[in-house]
Amino acid sequence: MLTRADLAKYPFLNEATDYVKSLGLSIEDIRPEEYGPVLDRAEKRLEEALSKGRITANIADENTEILSFPVSNLILSLTGEERAKRRYALAEAKRAYELLKQESPDKLELIASSAFQWKLRRTNMQFGRRLYDFSIGLTDYLRNAIHLKEPRWKLSNRVLDHGFVLATRDEIARLLEEEVRSKVLDRASRPTASVNVPPFLGQRIEHVRNLTVKYLGTPVHYELPRVPVPEAMPPCVRNLISLLDSGKNVQHMGRFTLAAFLVNIGAEQEEIIRVFKPASDFSERMTRYQVEHIAGQRGGRTKYTCPMCTTLKTHGVCYKPDEICATIRNPLSYYKTQARTLTRGKKAVN
Ligand code: SF4
Repeated sequence: MLTRADLAKYPFLNEATDYVKSLGLSIEDIRPEEYGPVLDRAEKRLEEALSKGRITANIADENTEILSFPVSNLILSLTGEERAKRRYALAEAKRAYELLKQESPDKLELIASSAFQWKLRRTNMQFGRRLYDFSIGLTDYLRNAIHLKEPRWKLSNRVLDHGFVLATRDEIARLLEEEVRSKVLDRASRPTASVNVPPFLGQRIEHVRNLTVKYLGTPVHYELPRVPVPEAMPPCVRNLISLLDSGKNVQHMGRFTLAAFLVNIGAEQEEIIRVFKPASDFSERMTRYQVEHIAGQRGGRTKYTCPMCTTLKTHGVCYKPDEICATIRNPLSYYKTQARTLTRGKKAVN
């Protein structure tokens, strides 16, 4: 059975939604005089997600923790900030993972089957040094593992048992994290029924909008980075910038390609970091470290070049190749060819 403490830990569960519904509260009822701590916690959830990408598990006051979750979702959906929604969903999912990995196998099984209808079985099998506590249905596994980058999640690296994938307790918690991210994002993205927003909530919505700009930057709407000839960028690179700008997930190969491309065409380091800023999991420290590494300012001091088009095709990074793509083998060659043509054209006009 799920307890009130469980609902405070996992307020995205249907049982938590039912509990909130049973209180029969409307938006006007959540007044600061009575529900100040709930409003504060809801805003804090969003502030932590936007500023640090993490949300603390503050479960001492169970009622406040349960109620603040739908209020956070409401504030977020009223801001209309897609980038903030993705960042928030990821932060809630990470919070859940930290708690889930401490749960007993029974509790994990209950959450996976009741909240997400997973096909999950208890096992006790050992292969090599690994002890597997669970086997998970293939569809449930693939739906979530597809977002995970490490090689260990590839199906070819897994042990299969009659259509089920063996998994450890921690792996089940990690796969649940992905499921929670999708669920929270779906919930925060649901259109809000037209409501008269009370003034006390209006101020909080405005505050979250300001925080979004503070931590995620001003929406750039696909503004190209300031590089010598921005119009000369190939379709794959433009697409990567566009995906990041809309807060969508870009896999490792895409991120590496973008950073290596920008480093090699002479973009400023700050400019490269700005391009990555809208990513839902953006960390300035990590991005700076990786860009410096690619630029050869760290580690073995090797400056990396951009991967070849054939490699990018294999990894699904190539995007709508055009007629220039047919004449080159690397996005950097595309840029050089196009920059030459464009600059020549400008000189001719001048
Ligand atoms: S062919 Fe090369 S340059 Fe063109 S879109 Fe594909 S990966 Fe990019």
